[in-house]
Amino acid sequence: MTGSADRFGFETRAIHSGQEPDPRTGAVIVPIYQTSTFAQDGVGGLREGGFEYSRTANPTRGALEECLASLEGGQHGLAFSSGMAASDIVLRAMIRPGDHVVIPDDAYGGTFRLIDKVFSQWGVEHTPVRLSDVGAVRAAIRPDTKVIWVETPTNPLLGIADISALATLAHEAETRLVVDNTFATPYLQSPLGLGADVVLHSTTKYLGGHSDVVGGAAITSDGELAEKFAFLRNAAGSVPGPFDSWLTLRGLKTLAVRMDRHCDNAERIVETLLSHPKVDKVYYPGLPEHTGHEVASKQMRRFGGMVSFTVAEGEQAALEVCARTRLFTLAESLGGIESLIEHPGKMTHASTAGSALQVPDDLVRLSVGIEDADDLVEDLLAALD
Ligand SMILES: *Cc1c(COP(=O)(O)O)cnc(C)c1O
Repeated sequence: MTGSADRFGFETRAIHSGQEPDPRTGAVIVPIYQTSTFAQDGVGGLREGGFEYSRTANPTRGALEECLASLEGGQHGLAFSSGMAASDIVLRAMIRPGDHVVIPDDAYGGTFRLIDKVFSQWGVEHTPVRLSDVGAVRAAIRPDTKVIWVETPTNPLLGIADISALATLAHEAETRLVVDNTFATPYLQSPLGLGADVVLHSTTKYLGGHSDVVGGAAITSDGELAEKFAFLRNAAGSVPGPFDSWLTLRGLKTLAVRMDRHCDNAERIVETLLSHPKVDKVYYPGLPEHTGHEVASKQMRRFGGMVSFTVAEGEQAALEVCARTRLFTLAESLGGIESLIEHPGKMTHASTAGSALQVPDDLVRLSVGIEDADDLVEDLLAALD
């Protein structure tokens, strides 16, 4: 289903884009082409599809890439071995030594480390900014700013950035907007449609969706950029294997139904937390009192499966809640079908201690899964009491 794919709805594209039955065997599901190389008919005589060597291109990966592009409404999709591999190649394609990037002041830790510890060695400078403040982003842009890097919602406080306002700002300043759409997924939010130049994913999270594969993706409608991404990925070799590509493609098929259930369950959990005496503050963009609610309502279909809250009695009580749940598994990562709980201050965000990015020590983060909502509520209530 190529070319005409875009006239179909999201759920149809998730199941069919790039995924025609195999022309030779009729296999309904794209096979795992677990092969490193492809036979040639004479020197330089590539067969149908033009496959040569799997670092450059592989049919299973190609199907995944076509589907990813379709879901994000972009012309070109590229899959990577991890979200960080995608971030690395996207940055290398867009900046030169000495350039400057604007990043969220609560950027994903791995992204911050890549820019702060690796790209800095090539003289790349960065300014962390609160992205919900468009004026602050405008003030941070310099003549040598090549990229504005956006995450929305952010982690773990679920801050919201106005994608279309930032895209306008970026283009006025002749710089480019990259949106890490990992938390929202293309089902809930379409950054390219709002003016972003590149969308990035850790497909490890909701797109794969089953906590069984690590992967990344970059999607763009800019042909020149896509060519640079493909060149650099082939040069550096940060490609996903055929089986990982297949697992991710399998995950995409159910993305829409999973996301609706993640959102339903998150709403139930939020309701429970709001009325609990031991809970102080609940962070969820779906709440009218959330500072980003208005922008989130404008650019998101629903508000996602991530919920954070503070425990009234402080850090020790927050740690105890994390230790006492039974269905919510104590673990890092997010976006899988199973519910996870964590203490950002001591786990995912431990490295921010003492910095401006430090998170509240009484904060608990939930990745709400798609189990029975009553069971999840009961588990959380038992852990809070
Ligand atoms: C997990 C994550 C990444 C990094 O992805 P990996 O697949 O772990 O390399 C980047 N951005 C966000 C928002 C993430 O949650």
